[in-house]
Amino acid sequence: MSNGHVVDLWSEGEGVFRPDRPKWQDQARCRGMLDLFFNEGSSISIRKAKEICAMCPVRKPCLQFALDNEEYGVWAGTTTVERGRRKPNKPRRRI
Ligand code: SF4
Repeated sequence: MSNGHVVDLWSEGEGVFRPDRPKWQDQARCRGMLDLFFNEGSSISIRKAKEICAMCPVRKPCLQFALDNEEYGVWAGTTTVERGRRKPNKPRRRI
């Protein structure tokens, strides 16, 4: 189900399932918890999402996926803003 910004990666019905979904997402601890992971306006949601990520076996490919696709939300225990700070080869402004 889409909420305007986010495609539900886990739904397998009604045409919203992404057949190109990476296989590692089968092991994701966040399956079915979209409200928690895509609610960056709530510090409580962010904290709970990060706790779940800390126990997830696929954090490494998850982080790379989020960086490569410039995803919104909490991925691999990082928020959208935190990943923006981590992006490699980000051009620096010249003064
Ligand atoms: S690391 Fe976090 S966001 Fe990524 S798949 Fe696991 S639980 Fe989901």
